[in-house]
Amino acid sequence: MPKASVDCCSQPGLMRPDLALEKILAHVSAVTDTEQVGLDDAMGRILAQPVVSLIDLPPFDNSAMDGYACRWQDLQSGQPLTLVGTSLAGHPFEGDTPKGSCVRIMTGGQIPKQYDTVQMQENAQANGNSVVLQQPYAQGAHVRPKGEEASQGQVIYQPGVRIGAPEMGVLATVGAAKVTVYRRLTVAFFSTGDELKPVGSELNPGDIYDSNRYAIKGLLSRSYVDYIDLGVISDDPDKIRSAFLEAAEVADVVITSGGVSVGDADFVKQILDEVGQINFWKLAIKPGKPFAFGQIGKALFCGLPGNPVSSMVTYYKLVQPILAKRAGLPTPPVLKVPATLTCAIRKRPGRMEYQRGIYSYDAQGKLQVMTTGAQGSGMLTSMSVSNCFIVLDMDQGNVAAGETVTIEPYQQVLE
Ligand code: AMP
Ligand code: MG
Repeated sequence: MPKASVDCCSQPGLMRPDLALEKILAHVSAVTDTEQVGLDDAMGRILAQPVVSLIDLPPFDNSAMDGYACRWQDLQSGQPLTLVGTSLAGHPFEGDTPKGSCVRIMTGGQIPKQYDTVQMQENAQANGNSVVLQQPYAQGAHVRPKGEEASQGQVIYQPGVRIGAPEMGVLATVGAAKVTVYRRLTVAFFSTGDELKPVGSELNPGDIYDSNRYAIKGLLSRSYVDYIDLGVISDDPDKIRSAFLEAAEVADVVITSGGVSVGDADFVKQILDEVGQINFWKLAIKPGKPFAFGQIGKALFCGLPGNPVSSMVTYYKLVQPILAKRAGLPTPPVLKVPATLTCAIRKRPGRMEYQRGIYSYDAQGKLQVMTTGAQGSGMLTSMSVSNCFIVLDMDQGNVAAGETVTIEPYQQVLE
């Protein structure tokens, strides 16, 4: 990627995060390698080739009810029908079906050849082999016709579909024992900072535990990602350089946290200028103003800010869509919902804010939302008690209780 192509943020001031994402995504393409996996291993993977139904769906006319199958025409006289046999699911009736006959049928049972209609058993009176059926509402009642859902050879899924629970079922229904999916993304990540100690060790004065690496591990625990944890790298230019080169060698995407602002120990920027083509974005987003994106060798690079909440917010808003597109997924629309604010919010115009919120329903069933309280960018507990972002636009100022705000509920993932 030539440097000029990512240098799209050179205008003064801060860039809207949604605009930044649009520009960034223009530089991201899906991996091209694919692999075949058995259906048992397909959950959460992303289809790389269309799936075609191997059979008609359903494969034969069958009954949607327990009851009696017959000819519609034979019901017109109101005369009793003669019971000639039974059709159970998995055990079709193969005998003759003369005029005026009917067959006892169970849900999923094959409709005998000359028949076209089913009456449910609640509307039938059987006396030995003589059965009186109330006329059903229409010819073809309670019959699931062959091929009504899909026909043999029909494309069921296009590439880019993420295989979730319903897709697992559909793939089995259409006979797809194997599917072609994009290969998993390899994502390498490390934290930077002299103050960071691994959890389980002693903290010296001035130290903190490295939490971002664990939060990022959680975020990367998805079925289309293999991740490589490269640990904590101290604020030492040589170590940071070798970590970058090692990561870029093995990964499709390299993610780091910390060191992307302009402090004295923020070597990440200096080293990236040397080994990659990176643009440092000053985003109009709170929390999370500094964010780096670009390329090192063949790998995409995302540099998250060190503050734990900033790091998670920029991950959700920017890195997740980047990974999804690289993995072969389309970019889904973000769910935005209006809700009534039950507390006041202080905000200065200038940046887009993603405050952590808790939504619930009031006694009348109306959606309401409150903040989690203090919104410091280092207070990660605000993320875990929240269930949504309260999104306040750039030029928005203070908001009073009772006003309507936009929330983005954290989206559930199919894993
Ligand atoms: P930086 O972006 O490196 O300037 O870091 C900003 C703030 O985030 C500082 O208070 C750091 O101590 C903190 N921080 C940086 N990385 C981490 C991490 N991996 N886990 C927890 N806090 C971090
Ligand atoms: Mg740092």
